[in-house]
Amino acid sequence: MEKNIVLLPGDGIGPEIIDAATEVLSVIGTKFGHTFTFDSQAIGGSAIDLYDTPLPDQTVSACKQADAILLGAVGGPKWDNNPSHLRPERGLLGIRKALDLYANLRPVKGFKKLLSASPLKEEVIKGSDLLIVRELTGGLYFGTPSERRDNGNAVVDTLSYSRYEMERIIDKGFQSAQLRSKKLTSVDKANVLESSKLWREIVEEKKATYPDVEVEHLLVDAAAMKLITNPSQFDVIVTENMFGDILSDEASVLTGSLGMLPSASLAENGVGLYEPAHGSAPDIAGLGIANPIATLLSAALMLRYSFSFEEEAALIEEAIEACIDKGYYTADLQVQSGKKINTEEMTEAIIAYIEQK
Ligand code: NAD
Repeated sequence: MEKNIVLLPGDGIGPEIIDAATEVLSVIGTKFGHTFTFDSQAIGGSAIDLYDTPLPDQTVSACKQADAILLGAVGGPKWDNNPSHLRPERGLLGIRKALDLYANLRPVKGFKKLLSASPLKEEVIKGSDLLIVRELTGGLYFGTPSERRDNGNAVVDTLSYSRYEMERIIDKGFQSAQLRSKKLTSVDKANVLESSKLWREIVEEKKATYPDVEVEHLLVDAAAMKLITNPSQFDVIVTENMFGDILSDEASVLTGSLGMLPSASLAENGVGLYEPAHGSAPDIAGLGIANPIATLLSAALMLRYSFSFEEEAALIEEAIEACIDKGYYTADLQVQSGKKINTEEMTEAIIAYIEQK
């Protein structure tokens, strides 16, 4: 099959990890008889440098015509003091909104060999395998523009959600749970926030549509605590934008490094955008030592969710696990033993496994 993939390498280590992903995807294409066409477009700080905007119109229209989008990361100190409309992150928020990528899925699964790389005790994280379903286009990050009042000494940020926006992400949470262990944890702050009260009402209403799913409600503060004290109790967590943002970064410690966490952002019937959960890691950009695995796992999610290429996706995941089992690791992973390798060597090892399968 032919698939047109738009690449948004972005900033920092973005281009390095996207290169790794295109190499692996090309090998998958050859092996399974697919033709992947890659169309690289600008976003973030590098787009600001080239076009004076973090999200050029050309990028948006290429993404709208793509079969799927693979993004590296945006941001870096070079643009930290820019005015807010010229911040790299605006590009990311803008593309999510432009494509209505309302559902962010982050699977968090520890690799056995890397359990010791987590700052948490091995016996605590053993058996953890969860999926965070986060609302991505509403809530505090998209409220009416923030306001400074009282000569800049008071601020107003707005948290607003429509019933429709809540219903579709809650449905996605239930549907994701149906495909896994059928347990859904809904995270909110219903003891304080009106938005969370409506959220909880909707979750209760939806139970009747998904009778096979067991549902629990957790306040976000308790959820944050339980994620690191008893992570294996979770299967699918569904939550709004900001809570999901914070909880999914917290959950990354279960995998040993941010460099291991993929994500998928999906529209209702449209295109999907896939990206690692980490940022642009400016501290190691250009050194060739970035861990490409989060991006490669994101590429696998792309094959699975956007193209329904399950076998191809599973082979990438198997190859990654096999390389980690062989003891290969990149510098971000605090493992006790094995062979430390760089981005290119890790990519080559994964490709070698795929080719000999
Ligand atoms: P970061 O995730 O970029 O880096 C945090 C730490 O993890 C750094 O020490 C970095 O070297 C390391 N790290 C991250 N990914 C790695 C990988 N693949 N391999 C090896 N090490 C890795 O977070 P930060 O330092 O807080 O932010 C840096 C920039 O990235 C900022 O400009 C921030 O706004 C931006 N950011 C972008 C995204 C995104 O594009 N989705 C997400 C978060 C942060």
